[in-house]
Amino acid sequence: MRSSSSKQITENNRGLTGRFFTLRSRLYNALGLGLRNEEGGRRWSCTDVETQRHVVRSIEAFLDCMSSDMSSHPLVKESVADIVPALGATLLQKNDAVMKLASKVFVKMMNAIPYSVIESHVLDIVHPISSSLSSCNVPVITLCATALNSILPYLTLKNERDVWKLLEETEALSYIINHIQSSGSKPAEFFFETTSLLSKILQRWPSSRFCVWNNNGLLDAIHAISLEPMLSVKAAVLQLYSAIALCRNGAKKLLDSRNSPLQLMVKSMDCLNPNYLQSTGFALAECFVIEEGRLKMIESYGEPLAKSIVSGLSNWSSQSGKLTKEQTSLITGACCACKIICWPGKHHKYFWKLGIESVLLRLLVDDFHIRQIPEHFSSLDEQETFARDGLSANFLHVVKPHVWDILGGLAAHCAEDFTAQMLKSESHLKILITCACLGFAVSLRSTRQHCQHVEYELVSRAVLLMIYSPSKYISSQAKSVLSGILKPNAKEDIKYLLNTLNTTSSGVNNPVSDNLQVMHLISVACYSGLPQYRRHIMKNQGLKILLSFIQVSSRNHIHARRMNTLPHYCGHNMKMCCYEFEEDWQGDENFLLFGLLGLAELVHHSGSIKDQVWLKSNEDQLISQVQEVCINSFASGPKWYCAYILSYFGFYGFPTKHGNRLGNALSRNEITNLTLVLANQEHVNVHGVILRVRCPPLFPSEGRTFGRNEIRLSAHVNLQALLKLLEYMYLGHLRAGEDIVKRLKTLAKHCDLQPLLQMLCRNRPKWRTSFPTFDLTSALGPNGCCFSDIVLEAKGHTFEEWKCELCTLSQPHLHAHKAILCASSDHMRALLCSGMQESQSDSIKIDLGWQALIRLVNWFYSGKLVPKPKYGCLWHNLDEEGKLEQVIPYVELYCLSDSWLLEDLHKECLRVIVNSLDSVYMATKIIQIGANCFQWHLVELAAKFMAPSYHHLRNSGQLLELDEQLVDIVRAASVARLSQ
Ligand SMILES: [Zn+2]
Ligand SMILES: [Zn+2]
Repeated sequence: MRSSSSKQITENNRGLTGRFFTLRSRLYNALGLGLRNEEGGRRWSCTDVETQRHVVRSIEAFLDCMSSDMSSHPLVKESVADIVPALGATLLQKNDAVMKLASKVFVKMMNAIPYSVIESHVLDIVHPISSSLSSCNVPVITLCATALNSILPYLTLKNERDVWKLLEETEALSYIINHIQSSGSKPAEFFFETTSLLSKILQRWPSSRFCVWNNNGLLDAIHAISLEPMLSVKAAVLQLYSAIALCRNGAKKLLDSRNSPLQLMVKSMDCLNPNYLQSTGFALAECFVIEEGRLKMIESYGEPLAKSIVSGLSNWSSQSGKLTKEQTSLITGACCACKIICWPGKHHKYFWKLGIESVLLRLLVDDFHIRQIPEHFSSLDEQETFARDGLSANFLHVVKPHVWDILGGLAAHCAEDFTAQMLKSESHLKILITCACLGFAVSLRSTRQHCQHVEYELVSRAVLLMIYSPSKYISSQAKSVLSGILKPNAKEDIKYLLNTLNTTSSGVNNPVSDNLQVMHLISVACYSGLPQYRRHIMKNQGLKILLSFIQVSSRNHIHARRMNTLPHYCGHNMKMCCYEFEEDWQGDENFLLFGLLGLAELVHHSGSIKDQVWLKSNEDQLISQVQEVCINSFASGPKWYCAYILSYFGFYGFPTKHGNRLGNALSRNEITNLTLVLANQEHVNVHGVILRVRCPPLFPSEGRTFGRNEIRLSAHVNLQALLKLLEYMYLGHLRAGEDIVKRLKTLAKHCDLQPLLQMLCRNRPKWRTSFPTFDLTSALGPNGCCFSDIVLEAKGHTFEEWKCELCTLSQPHLHAHKAILCASSDHMRALLCSGMQESQSDSIKIDLGWQALIRLVNWFYSGKLVPKPKYGCLWHNLDEEGKLEQVIPYVELYCLSDSWLLEDLHKECLRVIVNSLDSVYMATKIIQIGANCFQWHLVELAAKFMAPSYHHLRNSGQLLELDEQLVDIVRAASVARLSQ
């Protein structure tokens, strides 16, 4: 009996040593000293320091004997459940002497025991450790931070919220911040662990970011830490910067700060540094690819950045075709930093200079195959064979998506005069292009079978960008290779693609996913770029099908975002915040962008295809549809391509609603104050302010005063061309026949109107360049003050601090221009041009507070509701009053735009108000203001917001401040909600 049971135990306890059992029984003897029987069961509680020390030591001894194969054993699991309360309680006693020991043992436990065993005790572990961060003892803080650092990365979505609650209750974040900021010399390890902990918290909980980047003292302290000589500390600081930069507002703050981290970042990427430090540098560079950061990086560090990235991509070697984890993470890190290549700038030339084509090829094809590539190919077939062989080796799968993305970026931003002589290895580029084209063919086959993969979109996009590359060399290489590869199935492909698009736009319910649809559009655009197949697309009604697809997706706002479809971007991008207002090249308008790109190519060649009957008879329809798409689109890419397409039909420029409104000023020709006189004494009356802002070379700023001025133009200026140019200045676009385009080109060149010139020359839009803005707000400053003929005063109090550079008026006011106000608003026009009292006066009071007045005037001058309200972290960290203060100007404008019939402004304001309706406090304020101004739609919205908590609000007395009538409305909304 005895022997069999001991045999049983030996069976179950295989792997456990005798020493384990000895130490375990010592452990339990020690633990027994502190166990107390209480109502809820046995609880660990001990206040005697010597006993605590004894217990913690026996835990330590127990953990020390643990080997990795024992650590998941059931007996160990059981012991962990008993160890955690004892260690936790000891830490919570906050006795310095034992705390150090206990926190050290916690760290030991985290290292010895796998997370799966610890998981069920996470909260019991985090609580004592996080409350010990309040200690002033440097070793204790360091050890507690180390312990948390080893737990936080493993949290699941499930326990993430509870852990955050604990961190909040124990004020962990503010203690860490204090520790980092507190002066005095400390060991490097302290800095490493505390900054690492801070970055882990920031990564996981976006709401923690604001109090870090908004704290200048802390940022200074972090910068000081970055000067520590230890490389691992530098890496920790860079990681912290990356975590801060996950918040766009935070990233901006870092870039603007006097201790901008860019220099540290670039230094750390240097190939002489250890891999982990380089990787952290790359990760930060990726975070800074937002607009401001990109410009600064390219401007100041273009060359060193290219060097480091290229060395990160190429400093590896593999014998077995497999890379170590560390190598892979360095390469993918460098790939992520390579995102910078996808943007325009002067940095591309550095990448070419460093032989980027060979570097990329080496990531696709193994060295064995690369060595066999000859310097020259005898035929395209041979080129294709080498590429096929190389690809078939199935090398480095993880980085392929990146390689396609980088290749696409290089092709899109390649200089026009790029030639093969600028390459280190022409044959490598040729193979690279061929590999991409082969990838495209595979993707096309797969999407026809409804298979999708991230790589498909990326490789197809790369091929598209090569075909439409500004470099003739790359474009012709890609075209000839792709034509050959697609030949066997081309006609069938085209038929299939056009059919699918047609089904979608004709409203037939079809199961094609967004990703597949984008693939189809890219494929059509690629086929349209290949002369052999373009004709076939045209014959199969390609123009008509594309146009109606574009129209349907624009009108129904069918959008597909790129970010969501591309998981190959580094994982830390998942929890970004404050990025909602980024204006983008494609935004969520992928369908429009690629659809228009294909359409543009067909239109471009339609002249050479004789039987374009459809186009001839549907020209007007096409023009009005493309104009509509341009006006309603948000992303700059689709807008550019609309403008480009329109240029083939005699429309040059950039249609916007704002421009169309300002066109009123030109057509009515009222309140002009400047005369343009031609050599033959013909003359045109115009508005000085518009010329000043839109075309400075025609009208230099010096020497003009109030009143009517004259400008005498040179004998070369032709009246007709001048009138067209004015059309562009007022409306943002013009219509002109071929006969006048030549004269216009000269005029546009003289006036340095680059975007117009580009459209007059029908240059294909440059990838990712921003859409020309039509913004007259600079006229509100010194630039336009000499033409100001009206002062707009805000209502309300005078500001003591108010200062105007132009006058002594102490009421907040703006110096504006009647011409622009009258063009933008019929109400203003009635006020200013009617012969009423106001129209004589040079100053009027507008029934708006100062903040609302600025926005109204900016709307008239730029068509945009700016400045935008605080958003993201900045918004969430305002108190209720602060939020209300932000919203009030929009409510005021909402009311005013209703009575002034400014429909678009009304809609925009409503959008802002709806977005900010996030608390009962806000809702009670909005409902009151709405009722006072008879804006019943606002009342309804606020009531709807309060409806779900109506009973609670009534019982807690929160509705007392509302009129009975309003309470009734809320009640009705709550009833309506229940009856739904
Ligand atoms: Zn944020
Ligand atoms: Zn003034």
